[in-house]
Amino acid sequence: MKILKIDHLGIAVNSIDQGRGFWSDILGLHYEGSETVAEQKVTTAFFPVGESEVELLESVTPDGPVAKFIEKKGEGIQHVAFRVENIDEALAELKQKGVKLIDEQPRIGAGGAKIAFLHPKATGGVLVELCQRD
Ligand code: ZN
Repeated sequence: MKILKIDHLGIAVNSIDQGRGFWSDILGLHYEGSETVAEQKVTTAFFPVGESEVELLESVTPDGPVAKFIEKKGEGIQHVAFRVENIDEALAELKQKGVKLIDEQPRIGAGGAKIAFLHPKATGGVLVELCQRD
């Protein structure tokens, strides 16, 4: 598998409107607007930082994965996303190595990227996302 870079850091917030002030007003990062990914029950907002991005995540329902994360751990870094050259190959390789996956098949995330999550039990407690952008 070829990992190209850290694509983004996913940060869980209660409210993008309230949470983005620090990132845009104080750090001066460019706010590109938000997008709701209904299937994942989340609204996301991206802030480019050099070659990577900060992604804020706000749950759209109380039972969504981001809401559950905040309930358990509070607001903060929820996942690390690596950009891979070929996500299908990467998942096949991980499966072959016996790595527990949340997504056996890629799904479509924000911005039309192909994404898949690895299980934190297989990664030392870090929720890892793979993404491929064409
Ligand atoms: Zn992400």
